[in-house]
Parts: sequence; C-alpha cells; structure tokens
Amino acid sequence: MASTTLDKPAPGRKPGAAARRRVSVLLPLPFPGPFDYALPDDGRLDDVRPGEVVSVPLGRRTETGVVWDRDGTLPPEFAPPPGRPVADGRLKPVIARAGLPALPAALRRFVDWVAAYTLSPPGLVLAMALRTSQSAQAAPAQGRAQGWAPADPPPAGLRDTPARRRVLDVASRDGPLGGAELARRAGVGAGVVRGLADAGALRPVTLAPAPAFAAPDPGHCPPTLGDHQAQPAQALRDLAAAGGFSVTLLEGVTGSGKTEIYMEAIAACLAKGRQALVLLPEIALSAQWTGRFARRFGAEPALWHSDLGPRLRRVTWRAVADGTARVVVGARSALFLPFAELGLVIVDEEHESAFKQEDGVTYHARDMAVVRARMDNAPAILVSATPSLETLANVGAGRYRHLVLRARHGGAGMPDVRTIDMRAHPPERGLFLSPVLAAALDETMGRGEQAMLFLNRRGYAPLTLCRTCGHRLQCPNCTAWLVEHRARRIVTCHHCGYQDPTPPACPSCKAESSLTPIGPGVERITEEARATFPDARILVMASDTLPGPAATADAVARIARREIDLVIGTQIVAKGWHFPHLTLVGVVDADLGLGGGDLRAAERTVQLLHQVAGRAGRAEAPGTVMLQSYTPEHPVMQALVLGDFENFMRQEAEQRRPGFWPPFGRLAALIVSADTPEAADATARALGEAAPHGDGVQVLGPAPAPLAILRGRHRRRLLLRTRRDIAVQPLVRQWLDRVPPDRGARIDVDIDPISFL
Ligand SMILES: [Zn+2]
Ligand SMILES: [Zn+2]
Repeated sequence: MASTTLDKPAPGRKPGAAARRRVSVLLPLPFPGPFDYALPDDGRLDDVRPGEVVSVPLGRRTETGVVWDRDGTLPPEFAPPPGRPVADGRLKPVIARAGLPALPAALRRFVDWVAAYTLSPPGLVLAMALRTSQSAQAAPAQGRAQGWAPADPPPAGLRDTPARRRVLDVASRDGPLGGAELARRAGVGAGVVRGLADAGALRPVTLAPAPAFAAPDPGHCPPTLGDHQAQPAQALRDLAAAGGFSVTLLEGVTGSGKTEIYMEAIAACLAKGRQALVLLPEIALSAQWTGRFARRFGAEPALWHSDLGPRLRRVTWRAVADGTARVVVGARSALFLPFAELGLVIVDEEHESAFKQEDGVTYHARDMAVVRARMDNAPAILVSATPSLETLANVGAGRYRHLVLRARHGGAGMPDVRTIDMRAHPPERGLFLSPVLAAALDETMGRGEQAMLFLNRRGYAPLTLCRTCGHRLQCPNCTAWLVEHRARRIVTCHHCGYQDPTPPACPSCKAESSLTPIGPGVERITEEARATFPDARILVMASDTLPGPAATADAVARIARREIDLVIGTQIVAKGWHFPHLTLVGVVDADLGLGGGDLRAAERTVQLLHQVAGRAGRAEAPGTVMLQSYTPEHPVMQALVLGDFENFMRQEAEQRRPGFWPPFGRLAALIVSADTPEAADATARALGEAAPHGDGVQVLGPAPAPLAILRGRHRRRLLLRTRRDIAVQPLVRQWLDRVPPDRGARIDVDIDPISFL
C-alpha cells in the first residue's frame, strides 16, 4: 500500500537501477487505499494521467481501477494513514486503458472526502462512482448494440418452458432488447436467452442508437413569476451565474412555487454552459418533475436511479462525463456521477430522511451534496417547506444563505388544520375513522371534490395476536412483528423481507379462527372506507401497491383526471405531488411517529404531516386537514394547527442544545452484530471498555439495539456524542484500533446516524 504519486521515484531504490515509473491505482474493492503499479516497459501507457480508468492484475484476476492521486484537500484529521511503499521489483504492471472517460479531479477528491468522513474504504466509495453497469469496461464506445426480437414465425418443435415463454413474452411486449436486459426483465438467466437464440426462436437485430440527451433551452418557456417569487428567483439566477461555492436554503410553504424558482437557477447555470444536478428523495417523484422540466426547458433531463437498465446507465454515465447530459435528476447515487463541468447542485425536500443511505457506505446525500458542490466550486441550493434543524442551524450560524417564500402561489390559501380528539370522538368498535372525519369525507366527496386518507403503515395490520393464548406472530429472524398483507394472503417482516402464508390457525395453541389483527395498516383503512363509502372510487398508494415510477405516475395522472374520489396512502402520497382537486386530508394516526424515543421523532412527524397537509387545497378551493390524535395538546399537533413551524423548530433546538445533540453536537453510532448473543456482547463490552472519553466526549452504551435481532444477527449499539467542535472520525478510528478486530463479530460505523434501530 502506498500513496506515492506519479513521477516520484520510489524511496530506497538501488543506486544505478533505473526506477520503474509507478502509479497509484484505486480499485473498487474494500482495501484501505490505492495500490502501486508499474507502467509497462514498452512505454505505451507513459502518458496515463490521474483519473484514467485502467485494468490491472490483482492476484490472478484482472480488475478495473482508477489512476489515483492525492492532494491537500482533506483536513489532516481525516486523512488516512500512509501505507508502506512497495519495492520496485515487486510492482506489477498496469495492463491497459479500460476505454472509459477519466474521472474528473473534483470527483476523485469527493470520493476521498466521502470515504474519510464516513470511515469507509475509499474503494467502496469509488465503486459507487464506477457503478455504470456490471460490464463497464466492456461498454462499446460507439457503434450500435445488438438486441433480440422474437422470430416470426417461431421455429417448429421449440421446447416450451415457463422461463422461455417469459423471455418471448417480454421480447414481443417490450420490443428488441439487449440479451442481459431481456434476461433481467424476464427474470431468467442469460443461458435461457442464449438457448432461444441458438434454437432460432430469437433473431438478432441492431438496436436503435441510444437515446441522446437533447440540450435543454434556458429560454424555452420562462415562467410568469408572482411578486413574492421575483426577488428570490433573481437571487438564485445571480448565484448560479456567478458560480463559486455557496449554500442557500430556499424555504417556502408547499405550493409557493419553489420548483419554478430553482429552475431559474438551472436556467442561469445552463446559460453559463455548466451542468446541473438535482437530487430528489424519492425516485417515484421524477416523472412529475421531468414533465415540469420539459415544459420549462423543451427537453427532458437525464435520469439516474437504481431502476435504470444497464444500457441506459452506461449511456447516461458517458453523457454526464462528456457533458452532453446537461441536467441530471436522480436519487442520491447521482452524486457520484463524473460531471464534466458541474455548475449547480440542488437538493429538493432536503429534510427527507430518505437521503440517508443506510446500507454499505452510510452517507447522508444532503450533506454530501454540499461537499460535492464545494469540490466543484459550485453553488448548492437546499429546498424545503420544513427545513431540517441541521440546515436551520447552519443558516443561524451564517454558514448558509436563506431565501424565504411566504405566500402560496396563485392565491391559494393555506389549508385549515384541525385536530380530532379521539378521546372525545372515538371511532366505533373495530373501526379507525372517527365519525367526525367520516362525516367530513362524506361531505367533501358529496361536493365532487377529492379527499385523501394518510396512514404511514403498509399492509393490513401491524400485529397479529391469538385471542386464545396471546401468541403474537413474530419474525423468526428479527425482533419484529410480522405484518399481515391480506390482499397477498401473507404475513411478512418489513425489516428482512421474511414471509409466510397467513396461518389458518394459531401456530402456538392451534386454535382455529383465533388470530386477530391489531391496529390498522392502509389495507385495513381501505376496507373500512369501502364499507363506509361504497360508491367512492378509491385508489391505494403505497410502495408495495405501486411498483416503480411508471405505476406511480399513472396513479397521479388518474387523480389529476378526477377518476378518483378518495386516495388512501402511506408516505408516498406526502411527496411533492400536485393534486389540484384535493380539498380534504385526513391523517388516520397523527401520533404514530411520536413513539420510539427517536431523537428526531417530533421533528420528523411535523415535517411529514406538514407535507401531507400541503396536498390539500392547492387550486381555488381552500383545503382542510384533520389530524386524528389522542394527544391534541402535544407541541407537534399545536405546531401543525397553528402553522407555526418556526416556533416549533426553535423549541426543538432549545431541547437539543444543552446535551450537545445534533445539530449542536456530533454523533457516531457503532453497531456490533454477530451470529450469537455471546459474540455480540463480547465485542460490545470490549468497545465499551476502550471507549474514548474526555471533555465534550461521551459514549452511550453498549446496549441491545431496539432491533436486537435483525436477519438472524444479534445487535448491540454504542453511541459516541461529542461537542460540535470535536471531529468524531479520528476518535472512532483510534477507538476501533484499540479493539482486537476478530471475535466473530462485525462492527459497522454510522456517522451522523438518522436511524437508531
Ligand atoms: Zn394461540
Ligand atoms: Zn425479519
């Protein structure tokens, strides 16, 4: 391991021996740093530059990596320790260039920064930047790809199997597709496609050229801005035109026209000849967003998310690198794209916890977006109706600028928010909608307006209990109840995906018809609504009933066309949808998010319910929001009723400040997991004994995690909390160094944790 850079002779070489030219190459694998390689003696790679993608030997394999360099961007306390230089004679040569565009310097520095900040191996962060497809290096630079279409007529005597039939169905339904994509969509192995091709049932066709990204035109269709919008729009245009790093919070109530305004910043960025990146918390939102963008700019943006097929992924990655994709809208992984000339970064709904990636490299895409903007010396804009306390604290400290949009666009009034005290107006036995809410729904739909019921819980019931023996259906792999999904006739674990057919009798006492659902999920609310309003046209919106962005876009279009009277949904309905005919929103259980004792429970509940409330009354008709609550006096309910988000956040800040809770302090979580409770406890105890201490440093735990067993692994948690002026990364690094690594347990580090499960 060495961080020796290009052209530097290796220390300690034999006098007189010609030094081999060496390069550092970072591989997309979990090593602590780059490896040194020699340049081949024939000189054909002598001009290789940092950022170039090359293939190198690693053991007996050939791997694709990136020629790496380091500079002084990282703060010293973040910089990883230097490795030992490798002697000239032991260096292996670089094999060849991989035929991919080079990774720009700003992206390389970003990879280093994310790795250092999250305490992840830099190679795993690089893997996110190279994840264009499984076969990135095999991607043809030009030329047309080959695809497969069903032979017409099909060959006689073809052996018929369900897998083969699926492939032929997909090929005739979706048109010619590349072999890998065809296999993926049909859910079969590549061998099935090859077999059909060999049998003559698929014929080769040349695929149409990959979709090019038309250039968006900043002057295509400029908006007519309201009085309250003109000044903030101009401020953002100026920022984007001037360039340079800065962070601005664009805050405005739902419906105040934030998207329109930040699109003016995109226009200025495009006019300047730079690329723009927009992050959305939920990729389901991209369809509606793309439509708005296309109306404003006369061309569609490039999309980036995990559902892109491999070919489109490859094409998009290259188009971002060569600058032909001017605007990218995407999920958090879009942060790692190789922008040629990034000039603007926007994070919409910046308060959303969906921006936190919880698997693999755990990072917060909002915070890393700010870092990315700094690396590219570009402005960042964070957008929200209910900004996070983190962002508000940065505004308060003068680190971020603040633009506020007060009025709702088009003169629509703010919705009237009320609580329904469930103690005074309880639902009938076995039901979940208060008579007050039921009457309001009836009246609203009677007027021909649309209504929505919100419950942030999928499935039929969150818990199933045996009335005879008290047995509860529990996940065999997790500390969690199995959730009944009645439509699919299963019970499933929302943490690990375990599922079983719904048992006909109690698994414990064998009593028949004794299992009883406890509490509601959206399915159960839908059942109640169907019984109460038999004539209403009802649509359920939940992540498991709407598979993918296309289905979501279709559902939203049906609502807009007024084909639906009542929408019942989980948090997917809370996102930035525009439903002009919706005038009543009922929140089935406003208290739901407040339990659990999570640091941000109150903040998150206010943000979520405020966003749900924002769906009501967007056009000329005023909206009403009804919150069913057993604690209507709770500060969260009061903040929503009074619409006084500012005051609520001030109180929230005052509660977190004294204990140095974020954003007034820093947190790092260490999660120990092991196959046995003993192994988990042993490592957790060792970590507890080696814990850092000192002024402004505190370690909480070890304690069993709330999800004490997850996917069969026993889990313990420790939480390091420091004053804001103390960096947690060096403390954690030294802490882990003090604990012998291998005790059959694994330690995951989560910097700035959002989830405390
Ligand atoms: Zn039982
Ligand atoms: Zn489970």
